Amino acid sequence: MTQSTWLEKHTDLVLASNNKGKISEFNHIFETLNLPIQVIPQGHLQIEDAVEDGLSFIENAILKARHAAKHSGKPAIADDSGLCVPALGGAPGIYSARYAGEHGNDSANNHKLIQALQPLRQKHTIITGMFVCVLAFVEHAEDPLPKIFQGVWQGEILTEARGEHGFGYDPLFWLPELGKTSAELEKAEKNKISHRGQAMQAFIQSLITN
Ligand code: IMP
Repeated sequence: MTQSTWLEKHTDLVLASNNKGKISEFNHIFETLNLPIQVIPQGHLQIEDAVEDGLSFIENAILKARHAAKHSGKPAIADDSGLCVPALGGAPGIYSARYAGEHGNDSANNHKLIQALQPLRQKHTIITGMFVCVLAFVEHAEDPLPKIFQGVWQGEILTEARGEHGFGYDPLFWLPELGKTSAELEKAEKNKISHRGQAMQAFIQSLITN
């Protein structure tokens, strides 16, 4: 098995997130791999969250990865993700974490989404949505060639929450083919098919083939 050149020089990879749900999903994915990588959440290095002022998932993922690499002096990976609802013009999109105002208030965000969709629903209308994840990896803060990996997960948006697992909009994200919301999936099950799981698989593939 050949490995990426940066892996020959580094074992630490800084994860540019302080989101507990994301850290836990990343750790779970990396634990199952036999790669010599130690994933360090940026909070463990006292690195504050970057200011996310990009207009797309890609821009925000890159600026978060650069910020973590700059403050740690190590390679970094950032995830920018969110829920896009076409009936709402793609909202909440890059503003998913702060849709209702306060960053990371999942129940307020879910409530706002239910309210925003209510006038658009007629009897039996299905409202589709997609979780999107963009991973940006930089070897160092000024890396001119960030590596980008993306995942998209299609589902439908429910009118009320179901399930206890996951985080964010998981309790409203219905998977018709499974007859469950993503909050009713175990972590391993979610990782296999989710937007983040897809993007991670692409990243892992790049580590072992480049
Ligand atoms: P970020 O930290 O700016 O990438 O914001 C991501 C936000 O999108 C989270 O706070 C959640 O509201 C939402 N989100 C992203 N991925 C997921 C997921 O897997 N399940 C549920 N919500 C998610």
